[in-house]
Amino acid sequence: PLVLGIESSCDETGAGLVRDGRLLGHAVASSMDEHARFGGVVPEIAARAHVHSFTPVVREVLVRAGLRMADIGAVAVTTGPGLSGALQVGLAGAKTLAFSLGVPLYGVHHLAGHVAADTLEHGPLPDPCMVLIVSGGHTSLLLVRDLARDPIVHLGDTIDDAAGECFDKVARVFGLPYPGGPAIDRVAREGNPRAVAFPRPLTGPRDSRYDFSFSGLKTSAARWAEQHRLRGGEPPLEDGAASLQEAVADVLTRKAVAACREHGVGTLVVVGGVAANSRVRALGEERCRAAGVTLRVPPLKLCTDNGAMIAAVGDLLVRAGAEPAPLDMSIDPSAPLEYAALHPVARA
Ligand code: ATP
Ligand code: MG
Ligand code: FE
Repeated sequence: PLVLGIESSCDETGAGLVRDGRLLGHAVASSMDEHARFGGVVPEIAARAHVHSFTPVVREVLVRAGLRMADIGAVAVTTGPGLSGALQVGLAGAKTLAFSLGVPLYGVHHLAGHVAADTLEHGPLPDPCMVLIVSGGHTSLLLVRDLARDPIVHLGDTIDDAAGECFDKVARVFGLPYPGGPAIDRVAREGNPRAVAFPRPLTGPRDSRYDFSFSGLKTSAARWAEQHRLRGGEPPLEDGAASLQEAVADVLTRKAVAACREHGVGTLVVVGGVAANSRVRALGEERCRAAGVTLRVPPLKLCTDNGAMIAAVGDLLVRAGAEPAPLDMSIDPSAPLEYAALHPVARA
Protein backbone atom coordinates (compact mmCIF):
# COMPACT_ATOMS: atom_id res chain seq x y z
CA PRO A 1 0.00 0.00 0.00
CA LEU A 2 0.87 3.67 -0.36
CA VAL A 3 2.01 5.05 3.00
CA LEU A 4 1.54 8.70 3.98
CA GLY A 5 4.05 9.84 6.62
CA ILE A 6 3.46 12.84 8.86
CA GLU A 7 6.17 14.61 10.87
CA SER A 8 5.50 17.45 13.34
CA SER A 9 7.81 16.89 16.31
CA CYS A 10 9.60 20.22 16.14
CA ASP A 11 9.47 23.14 13.70
CA GLU A 12 8.96 21.25 10.42
CA THR A 13 5.55 20.12 9.19
CA GLY A 14 6.42 17.28 6.84
CA ALA A 15 4.44 14.91 4.65
CA GLY A 16 5.90 12.11 2.55
CA LEU A 17 4.60 9.32 0.36
CA VAL A 18 6.38 5.95 0.17
CA ARG A 19 5.42 2.68 -1.48
CA ASP A 20 7.56 -0.48 -1.36
CA GLY A 21 10.65 1.39 -0.25
CA ARG A 22 10.30 4.01 -2.97
CA LEU A 23 9.90 7.71 -2.29
CA LEU A 24 7.01 9.09 -4.35
CA GLY A 25 6.70 12.57 -2.91
CA HIS A 26 7.84 14.84 -0.14
CA ALA A 27 6.74 18.29 1.08
CA VAL A 28 7.88 20.33 4.08
CA ALA A 29 6.84 23.63 5.61
CA SER A 30 9.10 25.11 8.28
CA SER A 31 8.39 27.68 10.97
CA MET A 32 12.14 28.20 11.42
CA ASP A 33 12.01 31.88 10.44
CA GLU A 34 9.37 32.60 13.07
CA HIS A 35 11.71 31.28 15.79
CA ALA A 36 14.87 32.99 14.54
CA ARG A 37 14.51 36.16 16.61
CA PHE A 38 14.13 34.06 19.78
CA GLY A 39 17.31 32.10 19.02
CA GLY A 40 15.54 28.75 19.36
CA VAL A 41 12.27 26.96 18.72
CA VAL A 42 9.31 28.39 20.68
CA PRO A 43 6.91 25.46 21.34
CA GLU A 44 3.70 27.50 21.18
CA ILE A 45 4.67 29.08 17.85
CA ALA A 46 5.69 25.68 16.45
CA ALA A 47 2.33 24.11 17.40
CA ARG A 48 0.35 26.93 15.79
CA ALA A 49 2.45 26.70 12.64
CA HIS A 50 1.63 22.99 12.36
CA VAL A 51 -2.10 23.77 12.57
CA HIS A 52 -1.58 26.30 9.79
CA SER A 53 0.52 24.04 7.53
CA PHE A 54 -0.86 20.55 8.04
CA THR A 55 -3.52 20.48 5.33
CA PRO A 56 -1.57 22.47 2.70
CA VAL A 57 1.46 20.20 3.14
CA VAL A 58 -0.59 17.01 2.79
CA ARG A 59 -2.29 18.45 -0.28
CA GLU A 60 1.04 19.51 -1.76
CA VAL A 61 2.65 16.09 -1.39
CA LEU A 62 -0.30 14.43 -3.13
CA VAL A 63 -0.23 16.95 -5.98
CA ARG A 64 3.52 16.55 -6.43
CA ALA A 65 3.22 12.77 -6.56
CA GLY A 66 0.20 12.94 -8.88
CA LEU A 67 -1.82 10.87 -6.40
CA ARG A 68 -5.18 11.26 -4.68
CA MET A 69 -6.34 10.96 -1.09
CA ALA A 70 -8.10 7.71 -1.97
CA ASP A 71 -4.74 6.16 -3.00
CA ILE A 72 -3.45 6.30 0.59
CA GLY A 73 -3.36 2.81 2.11
CA ALA A 74 -1.81 3.56 5.52
CA VAL A 75 -0.82 6.57 7.62
CA ALA A 76 2.33 6.79 9.76
CA VAL A 77 2.91 9.64 12.20
CA THR A 78 5.64 10.72 14.61
CA THR A 79 4.36 10.17 18.16
CA GLY A 80 7.61 11.11 19.91
CA PRO A 81 10.03 12.30 21.00
CA GLY A 82 9.49 16.00 20.43
CA LEU A 83 7.52 19.03 21.57
CA SER A 84 4.21 18.00 23.11
CA GLY A 85 1.96 20.56 21.41
CA ALA A 86 3.68 20.08 18.06
CA LEU A 87 3.35 16.29 18.20
CA GLN A 88 -0.33 16.53 19.12
CA VAL A 89 -1.18 18.57 16.04
CA GLY A 90 0.40 15.98 13.72
CA LEU A 91 -1.18 13.07 15.55
CA ALA A 92 -4.66 14.64 15.51
CA GLY A 93 -4.35 15.25 11.77
CA ALA A 94 -3.03 11.76 11.08
CA LYS A 95 -5.80 10.13 13.12
CA THR A 96 -8.42 12.11 11.28
CA LEU A 97 -7.03 11.03 7.91
CA ALA A 98 -6.67 7.35 8.91
CA PHE A 99 -10.16 7.26 10.42
CA SER A 100 -11.89 8.96 7.51
CA LEU A 101 -10.02 6.91 4.89
CA GLY A 102 -10.52 3.69 6.86
CA VAL A 103 -6.82 2.80 6.69
CA PRO A 104 -4.40 1.59 9.40
CA LEU A 105 -2.43 4.08 11.49
CA TYR A 106 1.13 3.58 12.80
CA GLY A 107 2.95 5.56 15.48
CA VAL A 108 6.62 6.07 14.64
CA HIS A 109 9.64 7.01 16.74
CA HIS A 110 11.15 10.19 15.27
CA LEU A 111 14.71 8.87 15.45
CA ALA A 112 13.78 5.63 13.69
CA GLY A 113 12.56 7.98 10.97
CA HIS A 114 15.98 9.61 10.75
CA VAL A 115 17.51 6.12 10.39
CA ALA A 116 15.02 4.98 7.74
CA ALA A 117 15.55 8.17 5.69
CA ASP A 118 18.66 6.60 4.23
CA THR A 119 16.75 3.63 2.79
CA LEU A 120 14.88 5.98 0.44
CA GLU A 121 18.15 6.83 -1.29
CA HIS A 122 20.35 3.77 -0.79
CA GLY A 123 17.94 0.87 -0.40
CA PRO A 124 17.37 -1.55 2.51
CA LEU A 125 19.73 -1.34 5.48
CA PRO A 126 22.11 -4.26 5.92
CA ASP A 127 21.58 -6.37 9.06
CA PRO A 128 23.39 -5.46 11.23
CA CYS A 129 24.50 -1.88 10.69
CA MET A 130 25.98 0.81 12.90
CA VAL A 131 23.99 4.03 13.06
CA LEU A 132 25.26 7.38 14.29
CA ILE A 133 22.34 9.73 14.96
CA VAL A 134 23.49 13.33 15.22
CA SER A 135 20.77 15.93 15.43
CA GLY A 136 19.59 18.96 17.34
CA GLY A 137 18.41 16.89 20.28
CA HIS A 138 20.31 13.61 20.06
CA THR A 139 23.74 12.10 19.62
CA SER A 140 23.62 8.30 19.76
CA LEU A 141 25.51 5.32 18.50
CA LEU A 142 23.15 2.45 17.72
CA LEU A 143 23.43 -1.13 16.59
CA VAL A 144 20.47 -1.73 14.29
CA ARG A 145 19.28 -5.11 13.02
CA ASP A 146 15.85 -5.32 11.37
CA LEU A 147 14.48 -1.82 11.96
CA ALA A 148 10.82 -2.90 11.72
CA ARG A 149 11.14 -5.93 14.02
CA ASP A 150 14.16 -5.93 16.31
CA PRO A 151 14.95 -3.87 19.38
CA ILE A 152 17.60 -1.20 18.80
CA VAL A 153 20.78 -1.54 20.86
CA HIS A 154 22.15 1.72 22.31
CA LEU A 155 25.92 1.53 22.45
CA GLY A 156 26.31 5.14 23.55
CA ASP A 157 24.64 8.51 23.89
CA THR A 158 25.61 12.04 24.76
CA ILE A 159 25.89 12.56 28.49
CA ASP A 160 25.02 16.26 28.12
CA ASP A 161 24.44 18.36 24.94
CA ALA A 162 23.74 16.96 21.48
CA ALA A 163 26.20 17.77 18.69
CA GLY A 164 23.65 19.97 16.89
CA GLU A 165 22.87 21.76 20.13
CA CYS A 166 26.60 22.50 20.52
CA PHE A 167 26.71 24.04 17.03
CA ASP A 168 23.52 26.01 17.69
CA LYS A 169 24.70 27.40 21.04
CA VAL A 170 28.21 28.27 19.89
CA ALA A 171 26.78 29.98 16.80
CA ARG A 172 24.71 32.16 19.09
CA VAL A 173 27.82 33.19 21.08
CA PHE A 174 29.64 33.86 17.80
CA GLY A 175 26.77 36.10 16.69
CA LEU A 176 25.91 33.86 13.74
CA PRO A 177 22.31 33.41 12.55
CA TYR A 178 19.94 30.67 13.70
CA PRO A 179 20.01 27.72 13.08
CA GLY A 180 23.66 27.57 14.02
CA GLY A 181 24.79 24.33 12.39
CA PRO A 182 24.53 25.44 8.77
CA ALA A 183 25.97 28.88 9.71
CA ILE A 184 29.04 27.31 11.38
CA ASP A 185 29.50 25.02 8.37
CA ARG A 186 29.37 28.01 6.00
CA VAL A 187 31.75 30.25 7.99
CA ALA A 188 34.16 27.34 8.63
CA ARG A 189 34.91 27.07 4.92
CA GLU A 190 37.07 30.20 5.16
CA GLY A 191 38.86 29.13 8.34
CA ASN A 192 41.78 27.00 9.51
CA PRO A 193 40.64 23.84 11.34
CA ARG A 194 43.98 23.68 13.19
CA ALA A 195 43.92 27.30 14.41
CA VAL A 196 42.40 26.54 17.83
CA ALA A 197 43.16 23.35 19.79
CA PHE A 198 39.69 22.60 21.12
CA PRO A 199 39.36 19.50 23.36
CA ARG A 200 38.20 16.07 22.13
CA PRO A 201 35.83 15.14 24.98
CA LEU A 202 35.58 11.51 26.21
CA THR A 203 38.35 10.22 23.97
CA GLY A 204 40.83 9.35 26.76
CA PRO A 205 41.81 5.72 27.45
CA ARG A 206 39.66 5.53 30.58
CA ASP A 207 36.60 7.28 29.07
CA SER A 208 33.46 5.53 27.92
CA ARG A 209 34.20 4.46 24.36
CA TYR A 210 30.80 5.15 22.86
CA ASP A 211 29.37 7.99 24.93
CA PHE A 212 29.71 11.60 23.83
CA SER A 213 29.96 14.96 25.59
CA PHE A 214 29.67 18.34 23.89
CA SER A 215 28.92 20.83 26.65
CA GLY A 216 32.61 21.26 27.56
CA LEU A 217 33.42 21.92 23.93
CA LYS A 218 30.68 24.53 23.81
CA THR A 219 32.17 26.23 26.90
CA SER A 220 35.68 26.17 25.39
CA ALA A 221 34.45 27.82 22.21
CA ALA A 222 32.54 30.46 24.18
CA ARG A 223 35.61 31.19 26.35
CA TRP A 224 37.82 31.44 23.27
CA ALA A 225 35.51 34.09 21.76
CA GLU A 226 35.21 35.93 25.07
CA GLN A 227 38.99 36.14 25.53
CA HIS A 228 39.37 37.79 22.14
CA ARG A 229 36.66 40.30 23.02
CA LEU A 230 38.22 41.04 26.45
CA ARG A 231 41.42 41.95 24.66
CA GLY A 232 39.34 44.43 22.67
CA GLY A 233 39.37 42.51 19.41
CA GLU A 234 36.88 40.51 17.44
CA PRO A 235 37.49 36.74 17.42
CA PRO A 236 38.47 35.28 14.02
CA LEU A 237 35.16 33.46 13.68
CA GLU A 238 36.20 31.52 10.57
CA ASP A 239 39.05 29.85 12.49
CA GLY A 240 36.87 29.29 15.57
CA ALA A 241 34.10 27.70 13.51
CA ALA A 242 36.49 25.54 11.48
CA SER A 243 38.28 24.35 14.61
CA LEU A 244 35.05 23.61 16.46
CA GLN A 245 33.65 21.73 13.49
CA GLU A 246 36.89 19.76 13.24
CA ALA A 247 36.69 18.76 16.92
CA VAL A 248 33.05 17.65 16.62
CA ALA A 249 33.65 15.74 13.38
CA ASP A 250 36.79 14.13 14.80
CA VAL A 251 35.06 12.79 17.93
CA LEU A 252 31.92 11.63 16.10
CA THR A 253 33.68 9.76 13.31
CA ARG A 254 36.45 8.33 15.51
CA LYS A 255 33.95 6.71 17.89
CA ALA A 256 31.60 5.55 15.16
CA VAL A 257 34.34 3.85 13.15
CA ALA A 258 35.81 2.27 16.31
CA ALA A 259 32.35 0.88 17.11
CA CYS A 260 32.12 -0.67 13.64
CA ARG A 261 35.51 -2.27 14.04
CA GLU A 262 34.88 -3.58 17.55
CA HIS A 263 31.49 -5.05 16.61
CA GLY A 264 32.58 -6.39 13.23
CA VAL A 265 29.98 -4.26 11.43
CA GLY A 266 30.67 -3.34 7.79
CA THR A 267 28.27 -0.42 7.31
CA LEU A 268 28.02 2.91 9.10
CA VAL A 269 24.93 5.05 8.54
CA VAL A 270 25.15 8.68 9.68
CA VAL A 271 21.75 10.40 10.00
CA GLY A 272 20.08 13.47 11.54
CA GLY A 273 20.56 17.17 10.87
CA VAL A 274 24.28 17.21 11.69
CA ALA A 275 24.88 14.52 9.03
CA ALA A 276 24.45 17.47 6.67
CA ASN A 277 27.72 18.93 8.00
CA SER A 278 30.39 19.00 5.29
CA ARG A 279 33.30 18.10 7.60
CA VAL A 280 31.41 15.24 9.29
CA ARG A 281 30.74 13.84 5.81
CA ALA A 282 34.30 14.29 4.52
CA LEU A 283 36.08 12.94 7.60
CA GLY A 284 33.57 10.10 7.89
CA GLU A 285 34.27 9.17 4.29
CA GLU A 286 38.03 9.24 4.85
CA ARG A 287 38.01 7.17 8.05
CA CYS A 288 35.46 4.63 6.80
CA ARG A 289 37.49 4.05 3.65
CA ALA A 290 40.64 3.47 5.75
CA ALA A 291 38.75 1.00 7.98
CA GLY A 292 37.06 -0.85 5.10
CA VAL A 293 33.63 0.29 6.27
CA THR A 294 30.87 1.36 3.86
CA LEU A 295 29.55 4.82 4.77
CA ARG A 296 25.96 5.74 4.03
CA VAL A 297 24.63 9.27 4.51
CA PRO A 298 21.18 10.32 3.29
CA PRO A 299 20.95 13.26 0.85
CA LEU A 300 20.77 16.66 2.56
CA LYS A 301 17.00 17.13 2.14
CA LEU A 302 16.36 13.84 3.97
CA CYS A 303 18.84 14.58 6.81
CA THR A 304 16.74 17.23 8.53
CA ASP A 305 13.18 16.62 9.71
CA ASN A 306 10.72 15.52 7.01
CA GLY A 307 7.65 13.35 6.47
CA ALA A 308 9.26 11.03 3.95
CA MET A 309 11.41 9.42 6.64
CA ILE A 310 8.30 8.71 8.74
CA ALA A 311 6.56 7.23 5.69
CA ALA A 312 9.66 5.07 5.17
CA VAL A 313 9.28 3.58 8.66
CA GLY A 314 5.53 3.12 8.10
CA ASP A 315 6.26 1.29 4.87
CA LEU A 316 8.72 -1.04 6.64
CA LEU A 317 6.17 -1.72 9.40
CA VAL A 318 3.38 -2.45 6.92
CA ARG A 319 5.58 -4.85 4.97
CA ALA A 320 6.74 -6.56 8.20
CA GLY A 321 3.07 -7.15 9.10
CA ALA A 322 3.26 -5.01 12.23
CA GLU A 323 0.15 -4.43 14.33
CA PRO A 324 -1.40 -0.97 13.61
CA ALA A 325 -1.94 1.49 16.43
CA PRO A 326 -5.29 1.90 18.19
CA LEU A 327 -7.07 5.12 17.24
CA ASP A 328 -6.86 6.31 20.85
CA MET A 329 -3.05 6.23 20.71
CA SER A 330 -1.31 9.17 22.38
CA ILE A 331 2.05 10.94 22.10
CA ASP A 332 5.22 10.43 24.17
CA PRO A 333 7.36 13.61 24.11
CA SER A 334 10.37 11.86 25.71
CA ALA A 335 10.11 8.36 24.24
CA PRO A 336 13.37 6.37 24.40
CA LEU A 337 14.36 4.66 21.15
CA GLU A 338 13.66 0.97 21.65
CA TYR A 339 11.52 0.01 18.67
CA ALA A 340 10.76 1.92 15.47
CA ALA A 341 7.02 1.49 16.08
CA LEU A 342 5.93 3.80 18.89
CA HIS A 343 2.30 3.43 19.96
CA PRO A 344 2.06 5.20 23.32
CA VAL A 345 -1.00 4.28 25.35
CA ALA A 346 -3.57 7.03 25.73
CA ARG A 347 -4.09 8.30 29.25
CA ALA A 348 -7.64 8.48 30.55
P1 ATP B 1 15.90 15.57 16.99
O1 ATP B 1 15.89 14.88 15.66
O2 ATP B 1 17.00 15.08 17.89
O3 ATP B 1 14.57 15.60 17.66
P2 ATP B 1 15.89 18.02 15.51
O4 ATP B 1 14.76 17.38 14.81
O5 ATP B 1 15.80 19.43 15.96
O6 ATP B 1 16.32 17.11 16.75
P3 ATP B 1 17.23 17.81 13.06
O7 ATP B 1 16.17 18.57 12.36
O8 ATP B 1 17.46 16.41 12.72
O9 ATP B 1 17.16 17.94 14.63
O10 ATP B 1 18.57 18.61 12.87
C1 ATP B 1 18.68 19.97 13.25
C2 ATP B 1 20.09 20.18 13.78
O11 ATP B 1 21.02 19.94 12.73
C3 ATP B 1 20.32 21.59 14.27
O12 ATP B 1 21.03 21.52 15.50
C4 ATP B 1 21.17 22.19 13.16
O13 ATP B 1 22.02 23.23 13.62
C5 ATP B 1 21.97 20.98 12.70
N1 ATP B 1 22.50 21.14 11.34
C6 ATP B 1 21.82 21.29 10.18
N2 ATP B 1 22.67 21.44 9.14
C7 ATP B 1 23.93 21.40 9.66
C8 ATP B 1 25.24 21.52 9.13
N3 ATP B 1 25.46 21.72 7.84
N4 ATP B 1 26.29 21.41 10.01
C9 ATP B 1 26.08 21.21 11.31
N5 ATP B 1 24.87 21.10 11.88
C10 ATP B 1 23.81 21.20 11.07
MG1 MG C 1 14.13 21.43 12.60
FE1 FE D 1 14.95 15.31 13.90
